Amino acid sequence: MDHKSFKEFSQAMSEYIANYLENIRERPVLPTVEPGYLRPLVPASAPESPEKWQDIMEDLERVIMPGVTHWHSPRFHAYFPTANSYPAIVADMLSDAIACIGFTWIASPACTELEVVMLDWLGKLLDLPKEFLASSGGKAGGVIQGTASEATLVALLGAKAKAIRKAKAQNPELTDYEIISKLVGYCSQQAHSSVERAGLLGGVRLRLLDTDERHRLRGDTLKAAIEEDKKAGLIPFYVVATLGTTSCCSFDALEEIGDVCNASEVWLHVDAAYAGSAFICPEFRYLNAGVEKADSFNFNPHKWMLVTFDCSAMWLKDPTDVIDAFNVDPLYLKHEMQGSAPDYRHWQIPLGRRFRALKLWFVMRLYGAENLRAHIRKQIGLAHLFESLLLEDSRFEIFSEVTMGLVCFRLKGTNELNEQLLKMINGHGKIHLVPSKIKGSYFLRLAICSRYTEEEDIRESWKEISTLACNLNN
Ligand code: PLP
Repeated sequence: MDHKSFKEFSQAMSEYIANYLENIRERPVLPTVEPGYLRPLVPASAPESPEKWQDIMEDLERVIMPGVTHWHSPRFHAYFPTANSYPAIVADMLSDAIACIGFTWIASPACTELEVVMLDWLGKLLDLPKEFLASSGGKAGGVIQGTASEATLVALLGAKAKAIRKAKAQNPELTDYEIISKLVGYCSQQAHSSVERAGLLGGVRLRLLDTDERHRLRGDTLKAAIEEDKKAGLIPFYVVATLGTTSCCSFDALEEIGDVCNASEVWLHVDAAYAGSAFICPEFRYLNAGVEKADSFNFNPHKWMLVTFDCSAMWLKDPTDVIDAFNVDPLYLKHEMQGSAPDYRHWQIPLGRRFRALKLWFVMRLYGAENLRAHIRKQIGLAHLFESLLLEDSRFEIFSEVTMGLVCFRLKGTNELNEQLLKMINGHGKIHLVPSKIKGSYFLRLAICSRYTEEEDIRESWKEISTLACNLNN
């Protein structure tokens, strides 16, 4: 494709994208296709001769759109949001055009340096303690990971390397294998499945601890588990506190957990994948109290801060153990400036990395902090609107406190009744929700996801749910 065709193609695509998003509320949120729908719609093999870009444009509505779940439909209420904004889309275009692989500073200095500065901007927006920021002048700093799952694993591997080093210093006769077999990490039963997976991938034991009546991991529970394990000869080394759990958006008691971790010299990682974006608003920072006691902190601007996937922001007070854990240093990756700026290949699992800081830069500049805050506040307001509509109907109950943009609710009655309701809702296809279950109680989750969701959409979504619930009772 030559430059001229690219200009025409990208212009046509920009037009298509803007129309798609502008009219997204007209599309059914869920596709109705069956598995295997796509194969008959495309040729069996790649074309031998080049086609025209217009051919592709023509196929979008025929081949792709019938099988798309419209995550940015105002009535998509499943999972958690995934972000979308024009500044981020445009930034990704530029990133794809520059197409550098910024694994070291020298591999593309702007890629590394913009990331260092953007993670400082972002850390300041969240009011993270300066001990996490590169601008504080110490070893600390931020890095963009692809996902929160990677951040949890990276922190676990750093904590593991640190624990091995410490145990060896105390007991030089111990082998790595003997130490690793004694390591134990902790999280709440409500932590995301990626935490359990990080334990599996890291080859260490991970205990899922019980939560209180508000679905929070408490300091006493953690302390008791650590003491029990120490008595059994194990080495507690890593804790993940979740701020905004996936199942019901509960917040672990970070202050208490931080004290226990600090007293036991255990690495504390904070997973605020979804809710972390809300800390750009001062009124929600009480939920992040105690963050100064953590070693690493992570949240996903790609969930709720209008930066498209993938952009998971992670800060480390002291990245040394992470850097050492991944430090394999072939000659072809060395450079003369080593040590004067981060070589991000040591802060992550893959070698390659995209120029993702561009989208943070574009989004923060083109929205401004005030509009990012307005976005979060609006979505939380919509969640409270849904909560108030639901509370007016005595057939329903709220399952857990609404603090962010997620409402967990259920029909008073059996799990089966609620399962039936959800089946009807998703079967009808007007709105889309997913369920969750805590301690045997099945409930429905309504998340405010799309930046196009307005009050009327919430009223419509509520009408749909309450009407279907009537049908259910009949
Ligand atoms: N942690 C929490 C609390 C989450 O809600 C999620 C996803 O929803 C994750 C981790 C995993 O996020 P990612 O897809 O970025 O790995």
